[in-house]
Amino acid sequence: MRTLSLLALGSVVALAACGEPTVSAPEDDAAIEAANETGGGVADGADAGAARPVIAGAEACFESELADALLDMCVLSADVMAGRLVETDGNALARDYLLQRYDEIGLEPVGESFVHAFDFERPIDFRNPDAGRETLTGYNLIGRVPGRQSSRAIAITAHYDHIGPGENNEIFNGADDNASGVAAMLAVARHFAENPPEHDILIVAFDAEEGGLNGARAFVAAPPAQAAPVALNFNLDMLGYSPDGDIWAAGSYHTPALLPIIEAAAADASVTLEAGYDRPTGDPREDWTLLSDHGPFHVAGIPFLYLGVEDHEHYHQASDEFNTIDPVFYAGVVALSIDLAERLDAQLPALSDAASQVDEGLTGN
Ligand SMILES: [Zn+2]
Repeated sequence: MRTLSLLALGSVVALAACGEPTVSAPEDDAAIEAANETGGGVADGADAGAARPVIAGAEACFESELADALLDMCVLSADVMAGRLVETDGNALARDYLLQRYDEIGLEPVGESFVHAFDFERPIDFRNPDAGRETLTGYNLIGRVPGRQSSRAIAITAHYDHIGPGENNEIFNGADDNASGVAAMLAVARHFAENPPEHDILIVAFDAEEGGLNGARAFVAAPPAQAAPVALNFNLDMLGYSPDGDIWAAGSYHTPALLPIIEAAAADASVTLEAGYDRPTGDPREDWTLLSDHGPFHVAGIPFLYLGVEDHEHYHQASDEFNTIDPVFYAGVVALSIDLAERLDAQLPALSDAASQVDEGLTGN
């Protein structure tokens, strides 16, 4: 019930932001404050178009992690972001927004700044191997919530890039892939900022996942020297739309100690959490071990837990937009992401001692 009432408010907040691109400054703060001081209610004369009415005692609704997550997903998948393709203005706009959110949540930079640039190569034309290769620059955004003990860290990750506009200039907004994961990651970040974790939490928004997991590869190859070693990766990629209502947790085949954590979280979740899609079958549709940013962690021998939905009709389509997200399902997954992160932090020593198998041959998703 609590989830549903928060959801309703969160949807109102998010849709209000998404429906009207203009931002107007509150004009009648004094009237609203006066209303609050007199015990609530909307102030007479307050312009509803200029400022959201604040009801004394109900402020928490607008401050909830879920309301934040819906807003973040809405903003990141707005047309103005133009699909967030690496090295485009839309991608840079998403980055600027995330940097403001990192500040607002109170994350610490790792090193001098949240921004960690990396270069990567890719073929100029995938269909023509003779066309040569080009070098691009991506930007991972790394923030930290310090733990009570800082000998090892959990990396909570989600890629913020997407595939940009299509050939006919239609915008691939990437609401599910992966504004949904980034927004949930920020909800987890805020949770730990307000409820200090046992271990260091690294919040990492990866760039250039599409087409080769390049941000994750760069991070694993050269982790920031100022950060504690990463003992576990919790990766969030596509959390917002699931026709059958299932959300999948991959990783427990490689790290069986994850299974009781997944089962305990599943028992408390409002969505159906299943473990799977991680057995080596040779078919990437059945084994997601190397399909998203957790892949490079796995190859480096670092245990991972990946949370995501099965492929669906909006995957890498222009229809993957905010309006096709399932808000009830997503609300459950945001709560589940926070719950799983809490459990992983509590049980990290046992998990990080667990062996993980090593595969090779990364692909992109
Ligand atoms: Zn993705």
